[in-house]
Amino acid sequence: MTLDALRRPLSSLRVSVTDRCNLRCAYCMPEEDYGWLPSREILSFEELDAVVGAFCALGVDRVRLTGGEPLVRKQLSTLVKLLAARPQITDLALTTNGVLLAEQAQALREAGLHRITVSLDTLDPKRFAALTRRDQHAQVLEGIAAARFPKGLKIDTVVMRGVNDDELVPLLELAASHSAELRFIEYMDVGGATRWSRDQVVSRAELLQKLGSHYGKIDSLVTESRAPAERFRLPDGRTFGIIASTTAPFCRSCDRSRVTADGKWFTCLYAEQGIDLKGPLRRAEPLGPLLTSGWSARADRGAEVRLALHRQRAALKTAGQLRADPHLEMHTRGG
Ligand code: SAM
Ligand code: SF4
Ligand code: SF4
Repeated sequence: MTLDALRRPLSSLRVSVTDRCNLRCAYCMPEEDYGWLPSREILSFEELDAVVGAFCALGVDRVRLTGGEPLVRKQLSTLVKLLAARPQITDLALTTNGVLLAEQAQALREAGLHRITVSLDTLDPKRFAALTRRDQHAQVLEGIAAARFPKGLKIDTVVMRGVNDDELVPLLELAASHSAELRFIEYMDVGGATRWSRDQVVSRAELLQKLGSHYGKIDSLVTESRAPAERFRLPDGRTFGIIASTTAPFCRSCDRSRVTADGKWFTCLYAEQGIDLKGPLRRAEPLGPLLTSGWSARADRGAEVRLALHRQRAALKTAGQLRADPHLEMHTRGG
C-alpha cells in the first residue's frame, strides 16, 4: 500500500477526460468565455488507460471518469471498455451532467461501467436554464430515466441559498422514484467558483434541520470511513448523503487524487501545482517512481485549510487568475 505523509493510502483516482462542457453552471463556470486545453495536449484513450494502469499498480482500485462533461468526449465507451478490463478496478464510475446520457447509457453499460452519478440541482426547467445557461433540463431527466447500471445511480445536488434550497424535498422524492440515492453537496469555494460567498452555502447542519422539519427524525448512518458523503436515514428507511466539504471537510481520510485530460496529476482539489505525467508517458518512462514519490510527499488538507480562514473566506481565485492557469479550474481538474 502506498501511503502519503499523513498515512493516507492512494486508492481512488478521478480522471478528467475533457475540460469541455455543454453546460455553464453558476457555481463552476460562471464566466462568459473560457480557453481550452489544446487538443494535441489531450491524452488519447490508450494513454489514459496506461496512466490508470500505473496508478492501479500502486493500489488504486476505484476510478471515476469526470470532466468537464465526460460524455462530450467522443466514443467515451471505448475508454470505459479498456478500464473495465483491468481486474484491479473494483469500482468504475462516471459523473455526468446527464445531458447526453440517454443516448450513451446503453453503450456505457455494455462497455462495463459499474455505476453512475448524475448532477441535478433543480426540478424546474426555467431555474435549470438560469443556473446552467442552457435549456436542457428535459434531456437530463431522460438521462436519469435511462441510467441503469449494475451498482446503481446516485444524484448529486449542489445546494445554494436562494437558488435551490427550497427544493430539497422534491429532489429527494425524484431520486426515490428512480431508486437512486441523493447526495446534497455544500457549495464549495473551489477554483472556478468565482462568485462563491459564505452566505450562499447551506451547511450540513442546516440541511439536516430543514429535512428533519419535513420528514421527522433523521438518523446518521455509520459509513465506510473514506467516502466523502456522510449517509443518513429518513424515518421511512430511505437513505441520502451529504458532502459537507465546505463546513466539515474530510481531508483526514482523503485517499483520492485527480488526473486532468492533459495528464497533470493533482493530489488535492485545492492544490496549486500539478505533476506532469504526459511528458514521461510520451517519452516511455515508467510512471511508478514519480507517483510513489509524489504520493509519499503528499500532505494536502486543502478544504481544512480553507475552513480555518473562517470569516476571511472568499472565492479561491479570481477570473483573471483562472484565465492565466486553467488547471486551477474545477472543470479542468475534474470535480
Ligand atoms: N460535468 C459533470 C457534472 O457536472 O456532473 C462532471 C464534472 S463536475 C465538475 C463534477 C461535480 O462537481 C458536479 O456534481 C458538480 O455539481 C460539482 N461542482 C462543481 N462546482 C462546484 C462547487 N463550486 N461546489 C460544489 N460542487 C461543485
Ligand atoms: Fe456544470 Fe459539470 Fe459543466 Fe461544471 S463541469 S459547468 S458542474 S456540468
Ligand atoms: Fe482531499 Fe484535498 Fe478534498 Fe481535502 S481538500 S478532501 S485533501 S482533495
